Parts: sequence; structure tokens; C-alpha cells
Amino acid sequence: MDLIYRSTRDNSETATASQAILKGLATGGGLFVPDRIPPLDLPLTSLASMDYRQVAYEVMSRFLTDFTPEELKYCIDHAYDDKFDTSSIVEIVEKDGAYYLELFHGATIAFKDMALSILPYLLTTSARKNQVKNEIVILTATSGDTGKAALAGFADVPGTKIIVFYPKHGVSPIQEKQMVTQKGDNTFVIGIEGNFDDAQTGVKKMFSDPDLAAEMDAAGFQFSSANSINIGRLVPQIAYYVYSYANLLARGRISEGEKINIVVPTGNFGNILAAYYAKQMGLPVDRLICASNENKVLFDFFGTGTYDKNRQFILTSSPSMDILISSNLERLIYQITGKDAEKNKIFMNQLSSGGTYTITEEMRAQLEDFYGNYASEEETAEAIRSMYRTCGYVLDTHTAVASAVYKKYLKDTGDRKPALIASTASPFKFTRSVMNAIDPANDGKSDFELVDELTEISGVSVPRAIEEIRSAPVLHDTVCETEDMCREVRRILGL
Ligand SMILES: *Cc1c(COP(=O)(O)O)cnc(C)c1O
Repeated sequence: MDLIYRSTRDNSETATASQAILKGLATGGGLFVPDRIPPLDLPLTSLASMDYRQVAYEVMSRFLTDFTPEELKYCIDHAYDDKFDTSSIVEIVEKDGAYYLELFHGATIAFKDMALSILPYLLTTSARKNQVKNEIVILTATSGDTGKAALAGFADVPGTKIIVFYPKHGVSPIQEKQMVTQKGDNTFVIGIEGNFDDAQTGVKKMFSDPDLAAEMDAAGFQFSSANSINIGRLVPQIAYYVYSYANLLARGRISEGEKINIVVPTGNFGNILAAYYAKQMGLPVDRLICASNENKVLFDFFGTGTYDKNRQFILTSSPSMDILISSNLERLIYQITGKDAEKNKIFMNQLSSGGTYTITEEMRAQLEDFYGNYASEEETAEAIRSMYRTCGYVLDTHTAVASAVYKKYLKDTGDRKPALIASTASPFKFTRSVMNAIDPANDGKSDFELVDELTEISGVSVPRAIEEIRSAPVLHDTVCETEDMCREVRRILGL
């Protein structure tokens, strides 16, 4: 029987996996969640002998039950191929007493590639399965990395257009250059005079506008999402946690059934939610360590039970985590209400009207799997510096937040279980911040001078993704006010 997905805001709204992927967001603004988390009903030792694609198949087939084995294998084989610069797709390296899970070996050198290289295949397969005639318009808000990874994934995919909104003054220079040089007749990139939350709110508003949907349908279009509100983003992310465990087991670093901790640098709560789902499948995971930057709304939430976005939005050196409204937390809130969509809806309405809500003690008691902490800008820079000095290994700013928070966790708890740290971006994507952390004297140099120096000090060659943009022409230069996002979409679609 097919696994059913339900809206977090309306228990009667259901979808199959492929329908949920097509829609992205449920009607009425809810997120689709699986009715139950399927168990990982095969021995860890057998997973240990599989390669990445095989593990991905075992995990994803349990969630995407209305895909045939052939369909799913087609998607997996076309996604996880030589677009990745390592045949193992991900690397797990041991540094300074922890395992760093390098998720940045894909085309755009951030972990978003892990899901966004497969999402276009999942989406076009879903469209075919559901006899969709409309052209699919991928509407995306990005804090920097989703945008490029989605553009790369959807560029020139027949039957799709992709529109990306990014905060004009809130991404790294390399991130911006990566996006505005994107080729492909179906790609559109727009900077907004606002932050990521403004972009995400604007996009969600368009998604839940029934009049716009009707107008689009009449013109032969329908929206879908490449953000982690789409279940098609989350499911592929569960695979790498399972793969990592199996890989550590295969290498004799852990014994079968031994529990590990997972540390995730968190923004929209998608990546850590995938780790939580892996744990619920039965993967031996103990704590999920949620690492925030100075936008520490999640740290405060785990500490107090109150989610409060009413605070200053801080631009940090880890821009992909500069987020005050972590969309995927809604999926966890829904779960800890006992899957009560009405209760969840009340919290989410409080969040959108007053910017804050407080969960009950009963709900808080179900958050014991999670530990939250944060790293200041100085602590983040210090994590980069000290890792470089002791191991010669260069962390990007986001991974450095996780590394600093893991140290705090060790100090707080003394818990020495093996730790897997999600390493979410290549340092080449945040070269300026990384090089300044290592030596402030680097400040006067150009971005590409810094790229070359980073290669020299790290011994890692310049990734293809960076070489490509060195001299690439700017193809997108539209900037708009937040209020005008919908007008831009209409203009692009000729509505
Ligand atoms: C998107 C991103 C994050 C945050 O991931 P979420 O799933 O939004 O929590 C962390 N680091 C990098 C480099 C990212 O691109």
C-alpha cells in the first residue's frame, strides 16, 4: 500500500509521494509529511556493502512508494553521476576527533546538490505519472545555495521554468556570481531588496494564492517548489545519513548498533529534519545537535519552548543560515502535537501574525533528541583558524559553526559518542570569510586572488564550479522590491 502524505495544517488533505513532490506546498500553506516513517527493515551490515546509489535507493524507495523501481533507479542513476567530483558522491573524513561528512562534491559545491541534482528527475517523473500537461514553474527563495543548485538542476529541463529570488545584499560574492551567470533559456534570477525571510514569505504567498493558481492554469503553468518545503528535497537527504552510518560501519569505525551523534549547521531546518527522519527509520542515532549562527532563534526555541522571530536579522559570514523563520520546523511541531493539524495551525498562525508561539510542556518533552547551541562570528572564525592550524583542513563558515557548536556540546555534556558533522559547503564558496578567518591580512585581496591562495594553503585544487565563473558573463541583473516579486513572476510568465 502506498505511503500517504498529509498536510501539516489539514489532516484531510492527502497526496501520494509524486503528487506531494509536484505540489511542493499543500493547499492552505501546510507542508506534506509522510503518514508514518517507514522502518529501515534491512540489516545495517548489508547496507555497509552498498555504494551511495544503492543506499539511496533503499532509503528513497521506502518513502516514494508510488514510483516504480525502474523510475526511481533512473532518477538516482542520472542524479548521482560524474556531476560529482568523487565517485563515492560524498566523503567522510576524520578530523580533530569527529567525522566530517563532506556533502559538497556536487556541481555547485554546497550540500543542496545532494537533493537538487535529483529533484528535477523526481519532478518530471511525477509530472508524467500524474498526466500533468502544464509547464512546471519552479519558484524558489534562496539564502544563497539553493538558488544555484536548483538553477543547475533545472537549466534546460524540458517542461520547466525556474525563477529564483535571492537577497541582493545577503549572499556571498561567489554565491551571487554563481547565480547571475547561470545559462539556460528557462532560468530567471532576481535579487530582492530584502532578506531571505522576505523572499521565502513572498514565495509562499504566491504558492497559496488561489487566484494566481487559476490564472496560471489557464495559461498552461503550475508552480512547484525547489525549497526544502518540498518533500522531494527532504527524502534524498535522509539517504546520506544512512550511507554515512553504513560507511563508518564498513570501515570498522563503529560497531553495528552503536549510537552516533549528528551535528548539523542549521537554517531552514531541512537538513537536520532529514537526520531526525533517519533516526526514526531506526538508524542508531542518539542526539541531533542543531547548530545556529548568531540568528539563534532555534537555540532559544530548544532552550525555552518559545519560538520568537521578533529580533534583528543579522547578516553573518554563514549567509545560508541567516534565517529567522525555519520552515521545516513546522514538520517537527506537527509531529510533537501528536499529528494534530488544528493545533499546529494555531501555532503557525501565531507565528505569522505575532511572530512567536510557545509550545506546551508535553510537546517539549518530545524534543529530547535535540540539543541546540550557536556560535558567534568570532567563535566561527576561531573554529576555522584552529582547524586549519591543527589539521591543515579548511572548513567553510557554515561547517565551522557546526564545529564550534560541537565543541560546546562536548563541554556541556562530556558525551564522547562518535560524532558525524554535516559539512555543508566547500570553503571555496565563502573564500573571503574563510581566508580572513585564517589571516586578517587577506582582507585587501580580490575574491579570485583569495581563491588561488586558498588552493595554495589547503592543497585542494580549485573546484570546477569556481573555475567556471571566473570569467563568465553576467546574464541576470534584475533587482526588485519585495512587494514586486509577484509582478516579476507575472512578467516572466506573460500573465
Ligand atoms: C542551506 C544551507 C544550510 C542550512 O540548511 P537547512 O536545511 O536550511 O537547515 C547550511 N549550510 C549551507 C552551506 C547551506 O547551503
